Amino acid sequence: MAATCFRLIVAIAISRIIFSDASVQRDDENTGRPLKETMPWFRTTDELHQELGDLSSSCNGAVIEMSTESKLNTGSAAGQSVELDVLRIRKSGVHGKVKAMMVFGEHARELITGESALDFVRTLCGNGKYAAKAAEVLDNVQFTIVPNANPVARKLVEQGQYCKRTNEDGVDLNRNWGSEHREPEHWVDGDEMNPGPEGFSEPETTILGNLVESERPDIYLSVHSGAYLLGTPFGFDPKKKGAKLPIDDGGAQTHQRQLLQPWSVPVWEPGSNDWLQEWRMRYRLGG
Ligand SMILES: [Zn+2]
Repeated sequence: MAATCFRLIVAIAISRIIFSDASVQRDDENTGRPLKETMPWFRTTDELHQELGDLSSSCNGAVIEMSTESKLNTGSAAGQSVELDVLRIRKSGVHGKVKAMMVFGEHARELITGESALDFVRTLCGNGKYAAKAAEVLDNVQFTIVPNANPVARKLVEQGQYCKRTNEDGVDLNRNWGSEHREPEHWVDGDEMNPGPEGFSEPETTILGNLVESERPDIYLSVHSGAYLLGTPFGFDPKKKGAKLPIDDGGAQTHQRQLLQPWSVPVWEPGSNDWLQEWRMRYRLGG
């Protein structure tokens, strides 16, 4: 997928030079063959849903309550129903003192995060080499897991739109948490970092925000792919809002610094973790 995306990005960059359209990094152009023809090892949205459902009824190491949160789209894709699977996982007879919420797949093209979600749940169920560690964690922690936070657009990726990052409205869900610190240059239809008309305008972020408010987790982890980092942001603290890391080094040095200082790194564009900073929860992480 990385090579395909790279070729598409190069093609888009060249077309920008030719057509002098340097302002928008689009994610909805160019389509390829269906995912199952090119990278059959990735599970589809439907396969992930099915396997997580099977695990929920056969989990040995924990109790899993799997439900679906639904909301109707009222934006560009008005009428489209968005349904997010939610798994609440704890050890039988134990109500962990610590609540952890984990969200995977906010960005549609980051297919491997769905695999990570499935593998993590399998581990909590007592499978694999970290089963003993998972059992230990479950003595103190209960989990709320959203394994696929952008399912409608993910299906577009599965159909061959491999660079699709946004949701069905063309909104970057990780820039749609709240209305502060918006980057005006991205307020453009088609921009892959378009934050949407206002904070929580999208059904996916509305569902996730409501979950945060109802669950009030101590730990929030947003799982992404494509960069080697584990970062926690400065949030909306006005004293720190200018403290962005440079990103004009191609990423390599930035990521290296982030790995060396994983607990004190600002995220350079405001995302879900900045909004969550306001909740003063113990840990807010993206990686
Ligand atoms: Zn992402």
